[in-house]
Amino acid sequence: MSLNVRHIDTLIVGQGLAGSLLAWQLMRQGQRIVVVADECAPSASRVAAGIFNPVTGQRLVLQHDAEQIIPTARQCYRQLEAELGQRFFHAKTMLRVFKHARQAETFVQRQHDAVYTTYLGAAIDGLETLHAPYGLGEQQQTGYLDTNALLDALRGYLMDRDSYIAARVEYHNLTCQTDAVRWRHLHARRIIFCQGFMDKANPYFDFLPFQPAKGEILTLDIATRLPDCIINAGKWLLPLANGQYKAGATYSHDLSSLQPTTEAKDEIMQALQQTLEQSPAMTVIAQQAGIRPNTLDKHPFVGFHPEQSVIGIFNGFGSKGSMLIPYYAQAFCRHICNATAIPAEADISRIKTAKNTKQTKKPRVALTQRVHQHLQAYLQANHLSIDATAGNGHDTLFLAHHASGNEQVIAFDIQPQAIENTRSRLREAGLCDRVKLVCDGHQTMQDHIPAAWRRKVNLIMFNLGYLPQANKRVITRTSTTLQALDAAIELLALHGRISILAYPGHAGGDEETRAVHTWLASLSSDCFEVVRHESPDATTTAPQWMEVIRQ
Ligand code: SAH
Repeated sequence: MSLNVRHIDTLIVGQGLAGSLLAWQLMRQGQRIVVVADECAPSASRVAAGIFNPVTGQRLVLQHDAEQIIPTARQCYRQLEAELGQRFFHAKTMLRVFKHARQAETFVQRQHDAVYTTYLGAAIDGLETLHAPYGLGEQQQTGYLDTNALLDALRGYLMDRDSYIAARVEYHNLTCQTDAVRWRHLHARRIIFCQGFMDKANPYFDFLPFQPAKGEILTLDIATRLPDCIINAGKWLLPLANGQYKAGATYSHDLSSLQPTTEAKDEIMQALQQTLEQSPAMTVIAQQAGIRPNTLDKHPFVGFHPEQSVIGIFNGFGSKGSMLIPYYAQAFCRHICNATAIPAEADISRIKTAKNTKQTKKPRVALTQRVHQHLQAYLQANHLSIDATAGNGHDTLFLAHHASGNEQVIAFDIQPQAIENTRSRLREAGLCDRVKLVCDGHQTMQDHIPAAWRRKVNLIMFNLGYLPQANKRVITRTSTTLQALDAAIELLALHGRISILAYPGHAGGDEETRAVHTWLASLSSDCFEVVRHESPDATTTAPQWMEVIRQ
């Protein structure tokens, strides 16, 4: 197991534009990187036309921080072109077809605004080939990124440096520690998720308000000569270097299908027919659909998990990836390498969650939630599990929720009241059948567990100490806890886990916690991995969370 361990700095999940450019920036800083990409997963970057446009929307609004973002992106693509010997960025003027007289007026006002001068060109009354009753305006500093060419070239660059793995990262195969994360043979100092809209389902970041939007794009032949500009009439038309065109895009929050639809094709074709004069013949060569990782407040998600500082995210660039990613990749890279601040609008710490708020008031509650969050990524519907200390039933209920069959969970407690509390919690959730409740000490575990469960149990949870709001003298005891842990280890399946929450803060709890440490240290490292999770507050009395994984 430890023979081929490879130590790296950053493990990046996803090879869209975000993952690729972040990897590139970090490598330029001398970091050892591995990018893991699931080549079967849908990729918005692979579908995107890569349009680069600093002045957007009906009201022609300039991109926030454009004076930094635009030059950073242009410079990044120039550097990539020099290093990889290929052209990726194609500068191209945009012709904005005004929707109404008000938009034409706004354009003229903006032309006189110093902030806009580098981005806007002339106002044009009309052009022969385009239907533009309110006129048009030229936009500058626009163009498109040949995203596919860049991603192919960067994948090759990563492969040449033994820094690319085509695989899917399953969350339950990750082991996160205070200062490291492990996946397969890789031991990394951090992991950063760049999975686009798929991170909406990432259990570490499910608190982030993504608002994914499906978009569809056509590739076309058009039998007429059009200006060599990006035409933007709400829907856009982009002339490619090979004489073909791309046209798009639709916008929909209906994600029931990720496939292209005839409705979207018709919508784009109708818009083009309205914009192009003389009804030129158009042939659809291809149609693609992708999901933009948009966010509720329209700003990206950059940063590390509030409680697990080795897990990061770099995502949420919506439809502006080609323009925004170089700037934020540089900023995130500086944050990682030099501890500078993440730009506030993108920093995920702006997202206030119920979890964050509770944590400051009740660390114990937050810790059990954190344990659940971590374990739910691992649990599967057919798993067998044991709650060694039912208490008020929170963990038992959590396990029951993830089970699918009768008596797949067995829960122990010595206090009849605890068993009753747990039973009523399960009854409320309609999950009684999934759990066998045992009012006996967990040290007798073997007597109550079916013989077939030996070496088959996937998760065993211990939440030591006393039952809050009950008799504080009824606490778990060192000697019986150790007996139960010995019994638990015998039941554990391959890759199965024991999760232990220990509380050194009460009389007897300190001794018990020390004994658990000694017990953990006695386990053979060939067969078991021991993980000591980072504590939110590092006092000597703070609760501690540990895991044992059979490997
Ligand atoms: N300290 C936790 C709750 C722990 S509850 C918190 O703050 O949330 C611990 C439970 O273990 C109690 O309900 C107690 O009755 C139970 N317990 C104590 N000794 C036990 C034993 N030998 N076997 C099973 N349960 C036990």
